Amino acid sequence: MAKILSGKIVNEKIAKELKTEISRRSSPSSGAKGSKPKLVIIQVGDLPESNAYIARKKAFGEKIGAIVDHQKFPENITQEKLITVISKLNTDSSVTGIIVQMPLPKNLDKDEIIESIKPQKDVDGLTSQNIKKLWENKNGAIIPATTKGVLSLLSYYKIPVSRQKVVIVGRSSLVEKPTLLAFLNNDATVTVCHKATKNLPEQTKSADILVVATGKPNLIGKEHVTKGQVVVDVGINVISQTQNSELRTHNSTKPAFEPTSRQLIGDVDFDGVKNIVAAISPVPGGIGPMTVASLFENLLDAYKSQT
Ligand code: NDP
Repeated sequence: MAKILSGKIVNEKIAKELKTEISRRSSPSSGAKGSKPKLVIIQVGDLPESNAYIARKKAFGEKIGAIVDHQKFPENITQEKLITVISKLNTDSSVTGIIVQMPLPKNLDKDEIIESIKPQKDVDGLTSQNIKKLWENKNGAIIPATTKGVLSLLSYYKIPVSRQKVVIVGRSSLVEKPTLLAFLNNDATVTVCHKATKNLPEQTKSADILVVATGKPNLIGKEHVTKGQVVVDVGINVISQTQNSELRTHNSTKPAFEPTSRQLIGDVDFDGVKNIVAAISPVPGGIGPMTVASLFENLLDAYKSQT
């Protein structure tokens, strides 16, 4: 059975460290005049998945003593109005970090909205200035939370990255491209796969570390992995009970999950690969909690550079 790379355990460790650091820095004797790091989360619309992600961020922020201000706007908010909101937050000295919860409604230009965040407050690390630093491997790059979470999880479990062959399945700008850069910056040799990749199993089997972020439940099965590999499953898929029987995988004897009305599963057929690979991050309890913790690490870094 593979070693389980628990993001929950690392999330709790990071929470303790951040709580101690925030309490130390915000005590009046520290010179910080009792201020605390403050994250503003901007949400447009009312998607249940976004509400759930935001609830987790708020709970983590509360646990570590940071301030989390959730600002929710109706779907019909205009681009101009949203950018005005962000501009005001950019100049508000009580605000340490700003994130915009994705996805945004189609009528809004996501890139322009992200770009309107002041790079020093861009704790999701998605503005072009921050991505450029990551691209150039410069100090001070704010690494996007999911990417940072993947690397921190490997580091916690003492899994080396340098000189390793990393295969990433997925090429989105929000998750996989920053992850490609971060691995490259850590001296890994990286291959990125997508829908047009020829012979996906051949590619995935060649990895020392396989990172999967496709949003396709159980895409990666027994035939994609080999002994000794480390598998990081970034995917989060909410599956209904009716989809359960359809997802009994070719390779597993068990259903992909116990039938309940809604269930979270990853992009990797956990049961199908767990007795082959050396280590695997579960879903839930893997990269999800790492992403939340990493976001607040970025917030604290931004706070330190601003105070
Ligand atoms: P996108 O839909 O933007 O990108 C998915 C990528 O997967 C695309 O590049 C696509 O390839 C590739 N892909 C899809 N199907 C296949 C296939 N059959 N073979 C090979 N490649 C394929 O999704 P995101 O990158 O934003 O998110 C990916 C997953 O990660 C989702 O489940 C999301 O919920 C999850 N996620 C989890 C987070 C966490 O904290 N754990 C944070 C953010 C995301 P192509 O470009 O060719 O279309």
